[in-house]
Amino acid sequence: MSIFKCALGLLCFLSIAAVPASRAQIAANPEARWWKGNLHTHTLWSDGNDFPEMVVEFYRERGYNFLALSDHNVLTQGQKWIPLDSSARREMKSRFDRYLRRFGGHWVETRGTGNTNGLPLEVRLKPLSEFRSLFEDRGVFLMIPGEEITNRFPLAAGSDSAAGKFLAIHLNATNLLELINPQGGATVSEMIDNNLKAVHEQEARTGQQMLPHLNHPNFQYAVTAEEIANAVSDHFFEIFNGHPGTNQRGDSHHAPMEKLWDIANTIRLTNLNTAPLYGLATDDSHHYDSNDMSRSIPGRGWIMVRARHLTPESLIRAIKSAEFYASSGVTFNDVRYDSTSRTLAISIKAEPGVEYTTSFIGTPVSHDLSSTAILDEQGKPIRATRRYKDEIGKTFATVRGTAPTFNLTGAELYVRAVVTSSKPHPRQSFVGQTEQAWTQPVGWMLKKAAR
Ligand SMILES: [Zn+2]
Ligand SMILES: [Zn+2]
Repeated sequence: MSIFKCALGLLCFLSIAAVPASRAQIAANPEARWWKGNLHTHTLWSDGNDFPEMVVEFYRERGYNFLALSDHNVLTQGQKWIPLDSSARREMKSRFDRYLRRFGGHWVETRGTGNTNGLPLEVRLKPLSEFRSLFEDRGVFLMIPGEEITNRFPLAAGSDSAAGKFLAIHLNATNLLELINPQGGATVSEMIDNNLKAVHEQEARTGQQMLPHLNHPNFQYAVTAEEIANAVSDHFFEIFNGHPGTNQRGDSHHAPMEKLWDIANTIRLTNLNTAPLYGLATDDSHHYDSNDMSRSIPGRGWIMVRARHLTPESLIRAIKSAEFYASSGVTFNDVRYDSTSRTLAISIKAEPGVEYTTSFIGTPVSHDLSSTAILDEQGKPIRATRRYKDEIGKTFATVRGTAPTFNLTGAELYVRAVVTSSKPHPRQSFVGQTEQAWTQPVGWMLKKAAR
């Protein structure tokens, strides 16, 4: 125990040894460090199947540092009661019982008397402003407001799509102050741009840092590489989404996510003089009471952000500066691009008995961007990312081990790295999945505007 004098002249007691990190004095200019977080999560506020406090606790207990609850077309705010005594909500009784057991009757709010199952009529979903203080801890765990702006693009009559009449055009908006309603648009690219513009408008008007990103392009194969490329105000998208329905690997007619990324970035840098997209990994979790791998369970994908402070603004500014990578399990000690020596270097935090293979992928400066339409069995063009030459998103080098590096020669339009481990993903969203991590594209330049 030490004694020191407080500002008001009172003697104050401070137990030095017992000061938890969150009580320590705030450091000036702390070193940037890695923070782990997930920006795409659902709760009972829309189509997730658990109470927000239960969802937040899942992440907090597993060492995440930040979390955004991003329900469909709703911010986690305002008054919302949901019926318990309803057959429409399957398994509601067991969920409610768990919630009540975990947080107790003084926290859980109900009203009315139900007719079946001995349940109250309704339970209140608490807004973020009411429960965040239960969980947040400075420098340890942070909640950030989020919304999944959920837009539907109508397909023309007779158009081909396994999904039916609408395509799901979804964008997450992180750290909003106000709800954004889906903005619509005459084309898929315009719909993406219109929703992004609404986020940018709110950010400019309020002065608060906000981060929009495009979600799961391969869900329903809703967004092609050409459409992402042409939605030029988009800078971020999900290279990995843990929902099993998001077609990470594509199919015989549709490009896998990584190829889609390379095609979009090559089109941007070659034809549009627009910066490449940066890739995030997210959970898009909906199901919290199951280990059924076919459901959208949490804990599958996240981002690691290098920032000085665990605050929304510090994290978002770091993400906008590409100071982050996407992961489905592989962790880096470090990843850096030295623009003088033109070297991309990664230090992987190795796990015993696990092997790591890193592919350095990109497109040569000199390339052929011609493409052909994808045809169905009848020879009719279908709505899908077109087929390009293999050099669009080719593998420049493959390096084994925990310290892979790649020296750019100047012949590359850009280079990115994907690290694949030999360790099976403990929560596989597709058969055969192993843990991975994706760096952002480096070594690219925009052409100077003509004077
Ligand atoms: Zn979605
Ligand atoms: Zn979602």
